[in-house]
Amino acid sequence: MDAVMIGGRRQRRTDTMKYKTDLDKLRHSCSHVMAQAVKTLWPDTKVTIGPAIDNGFYYDFDKAEPFTDEDLRKIEKVMRQIIERKPAFRQSTMARDAAIKMFREMGEDYKVELIEGLPDPEVSIFNTGDEWLDLCKGPHVSDAGQIKAFKLLSVAGAYWRGNENNRMLQRIYGTAFFKPEELKKFLTVLEEARNRDHRKLGTQLDLFHIYHETAGAGLVFYHPDGAMLRKIIEDYVREKHIQRGYQLVMTPNILKGKLWEQSGHAEHYRENMYYFQVDDEEYAVKPMNCPGHILIFKSRLRSYRDLPIRYFELGTVYRQEKAGVLHGLLRVRGFTQDDAHIFCRPDQIKDEVKAVIDFVFTTMRDFGFENLEIELSTRPANYIGSLDNWETATRALEDSLKEKNIDYEINEGDGAFYGPKIDIKLKDALGRSWQCATIQCDFSLPQRFDLAFVNDQGENQQPIMIHRAILGSIERFVGTLIEHYAGAFPAWLAPVQAVVIPIRDNHEAYARDVMENFKTAGIRIVLDARNESLNRRIREATMKKVPYVLIVGDKEAADKKVAVRKRTEGDLGALPVEEFKARLLKEAESRQAN
Ligand SMILES: [Zn+2]
Ligand SMILES: [Zn+2]
Repeated sequence: MDAVMIGGRRQRRTDTMKYKTDLDKLRHSCSHVMAQAVKTLWPDTKVTIGPAIDNGFYYDFDKAEPFTDEDLRKIEKVMRQIIERKPAFRQSTMARDAAIKMFREMGEDYKVELIEGLPDPEVSIFNTGDEWLDLCKGPHVSDAGQIKAFKLLSVAGAYWRGNENNRMLQRIYGTAFFKPEELKKFLTVLEEARNRDHRKLGTQLDLFHIYHETAGAGLVFYHPDGAMLRKIIEDYVREKHIQRGYQLVMTPNILKGKLWEQSGHAEHYRENMYYFQVDDEEYAVKPMNCPGHILIFKSRLRSYRDLPIRYFELGTVYRQEKAGVLHGLLRVRGFTQDDAHIFCRPDQIKDEVKAVIDFVFTTMRDFGFENLEIELSTRPANYIGSLDNWETATRALEDSLKEKNIDYEINEGDGAFYGPKIDIKLKDALGRSWQCATIQCDFSLPQRFDLAFVNDQGENQQPIMIHRAILGSIERFVGTLIEHYAGAFPAWLAPVQAVVIPIRDNHEAYARDVMENFKTAGIRIVLDARNESLNRRIREATMKKVPYVLIVGDKEAADKKVAVRKRTEGDLGALPVEEFKARLLKEAESRQAN
């Protein structure tokens, strides 16, 4: 079993918080050293802010000429000189007015603006020995000598205070570690991640494209092989849902504004939605599928015996995301969720959640992900619904995890206002976490839509609603799959499972027979009979990361065989057509990793 399946122990977030904070301190301290180095090299540069972030730190500078890669190496050199001198980071305070005066004289207008925005009579300054100082509350490591390993990674544009009406600054990203070997490992993973970038592979494998300029940002076009990959995923997902007692539903992509008012989206989510007018009435493109499923639930009187009702839809939604955060398939404006809503009685929550968790684990294993991270988020301060329901639902979620012997973390008070939830992240081949499944109890929508079923006492009772997605956004999941497999999909997922290549023109008829034979059996195979050299055609199929290349010449045609080259194993020799066909079908059916 994989790591998450061992033990049902609670892991609290604070366990790892301390180390994270130390590393954050180190990285933030490194940003001070970087700013000092930049000022040493280009004294006219104005400094702004430099926080620690996931995986490193950045600092934003106002400098007329752009930083080049060569500049980054120069900055690193000066940083190393500073670090060698081991100046201590010391905190001091300064009267607000004096600080404004000082930074103004230094020409640091951004610091002046920051201090002017602070209410306190005194401001905190961090000194790097007697060498440099910065407006900062800290905390820092004791001295710059603690920075044993760092690297400047890239430069990007960033608006001052994230506001596009402000001046565009230059942001230098870097990272730092306590040990050189940790940095080395990080840089190796970073390099590998660059090679696996789904945007790069998406183009190389001709899977998808986003035509920002001509069609709109964050909107995905699946090319034939990408659409095939998606079809394979969708077929899998639909079939599994039906097997597990879900009913397929389909709901419209646009709905009246009134419905979004009733659901609360108009109030809480409006800036993320696309509104427009139809016949003098307001409509919106759906950002979520829940209200649609609710209307179907409400279409008839429901009895306690009908529950649970599980509606599933591959629901395409549109959400307004800021242009700056869009990122390939991972952050888009239009995407499809494998979305389901379970309407159940409170006493059914646990079984339902257990079944969903099981569903998540099986699905992820089929797609090749063995490592999952689970978080349970509990009642926040601004909750709605009865304490009774919260208690029942939270216990049901927690007991489900315990009974399945699954390791999880609790995020106390981090639930949605409408109910507790479980979030599941998968870890890919590089150990990176990706958000996928979510299971959320909801006491709000059943109330807002006045949902009811007739209970065993003959009274109307409100059902609990569970929102859940397994893959989450299919777009994001496709991006995850591309990076996890570096585009080399296992046979069951590969858009093209085999390419058949006739050595010469007179072998084309036989190659075509093989292709038709395989196609009839449901194998995704293409013929490459182009007037190109054999080597070139093999190389192209290899570049496309097709699992099998089948080469046919005189001997193969005479013996009813195919010469098989497997992507992962190389030459397998000539195999009888029927034998290889059965083998490929079996491999695809078993969803083997390779
Ligand atoms: Zn600082
Ligand atoms: Zn929902």
